[in-house]
Amino acid sequence: MEHVLLIRYDEIHLKGLNRPFFERKLINSIKCALSGLDADVKKEQGRIYVYGVSEENTEEAVDRLTRVFGIHSISPAVGVDKDWPTIVSAAKDIMERAAANSKKATFKCFCRRSDKGFFMNSEQINRELGHEMLEAFPQLSVDIREPDIKLCVEIREMAFIYAEEIMGAGGMPTGTAGLATLLISGGIDSPVAGYMMARRGLELTAVHFYSYPYTSERARDKVVELARIVSKYAGHIKLHLVPFTEIQLAIYEKCPPKETTVLMRRLMMKIAEKWAEKDGSRALITGEALGQVASQTLESLCVTNDAVSMPVFRPLIGFDKNDIVAIAKKINTFETSILPYEDCCTVFVPQHPVTKPELAKLRESEAMVDFSEMIEKAMEDTETLDIA
Ligand code: ATP
Ligand code: MG
Repeated sequence: MEHVLLIRYDEIHLKGLNRPFFERKLINSIKCALSGLDADVKKEQGRIYVYGVSEENTEEAVDRLTRVFGIHSISPAVGVDKDWPTIVSAAKDIMERAAANSKKATFKCFCRRSDKGFFMNSEQINRELGHEMLEAFPQLSVDIREPDIKLCVEIREMAFIYAEEIMGAGGMPTGTAGLATLLISGGIDSPVAGYMMARRGLELTAVHFYSYPYTSERARDKVVELARIVSKYAGHIKLHLVPFTEIQLAIYEKCPPKETTVLMRRLMMKIAEKWAEKDGSRALITGEALGQVASQTLESLCVTNDAVSMPVFRPLIGFDKNDIVAIAKKINTFETSILPYEDCCTVFVPQHPVTKPELAKLRESEAMVDFSEMIEKAMEDTETLDIA
């Protein structure tokens, strides 16, 4: 008998001729996620099987796999010889565990037989196995509509038996969509935005702007920690920490007060685009949501967009804050995001920010200061960390 993790993937099936590329990337992500657990990863007939993980490491392996993009679901299974008494005995063990906590429970047997040479067909297997279970476990009854326990048997090169299906993270395997650059603040939104785009197969680099001494060392550590949590899903992230104080003070001192936030956003975008180009990345990602604050009205977003020529992905654009918070909690960034350390945006907020900025006017205000040297200096003084 072997312990095996059975992995299903779905959207990849749509990829036609590119399918082997997506499957290779997924297998690679799975191998990375399971490193140190002696996993032997194999692909067969549209499924991925993981052999070699010991029973005591199974829970840890499943937990890691739930963070791998591209996986639809995972079932810890046992693989046994295709011999009927052996199958029945293994099925009883699985059922015993599945029904352990319930005095009364319903079940249904689901058989899939891809080995057509097996001496019973799927229906016969379901019926026979059902009888065996009813006899062995008097507290069980059959419910074919909404069973509490689904006892699954797959007759392939071995017989695989399981009763659990754990949902995976979905999405596309990391690295199948290319590389993009996340503007990450210490807030709730941007880590969620990074997670969502990584889920669609993007690898990430990230840029964070800090305004020391107006923002503290702890605010910086918080962003590093957020990037680390996102990297558990997205894989390795190169994080650029860009000193922004000089630029921010210049905006603050020389430009119209109500325009400072939008101007600051434009400059952040410009510098992020420069880092993206250096990294070989092809798009920027922000955590903006339409109407969330003055700098995220449609007019403000148009003005911000105008600062760069790369596509800007805003996966949260149509989300309410509550929706975003729910995802932040699910991916475990929320508790870190709400630590009360200031962000450079919050330190310099004007009292009455413009909500409908005019592009021509904003460009004029920006031209009042020559930022080029300051931008170059900020690039030079950037510290880059490898987050994994
Ligand atoms: P978040 O909730 O992610 O902190 P926010 O609600 O504070 O964002 P804004 O301050 O308007 O909203 O920022 C909008 C977006 O701009 C953020 O989601 C993020 O992508 C980017 N951004 C804001 N501040 C920074 C920063 N200090 N460094 C890098 N990117 C930033
Ligand atoms: Mg926000």
